[in-house]
Amino acid sequence: MLTHMALTFADASARVDAYISQFKEGYFPPLLMLARLTEETGEVARVLAHQNGKTPKPGEDPGDLELELADLLFVMVCLANERGLSLERGFERMMHKVETRDADRWTRKDASLSADPEQSGP
Ligand SMILES: [Mg+2]
Repeated sequence: MLTHMALTFADASARVDAYISQFKEGYFPPLLMLARLTEETGEVARVLAHQNGKTPKPGEDPGDLELELADLLFVMVCLANERGLSLERGFERMMHKVETRDADRWTRKDASLSADPEQSGP
């Protein structure tokens, strides 16, 4: 039973790979996956537009943001798998970048947490 078990990037990657590997078609080529990524990004935009004032067309489903974000994630996992990349390693590298390069970029809620409060801020 999977309830309350933490899902890792490796788990997500393996689960998507197990799913895709059942089919002769396999992963889409990278540029087709880029098109899918763009399509799903548009679906996220559509839900957000509906949530922020755009009136749905008659009979149009307002959509499900959580599901659309997961659709986007699925395509990203497919792209990483097809290219043989690790999303976990990529995520760690990205977080290291924002936690170091951008460490003093934003206004901290607690100024005492800033490495050098004299140098942060405009
Ligand atoms: Mg979608």
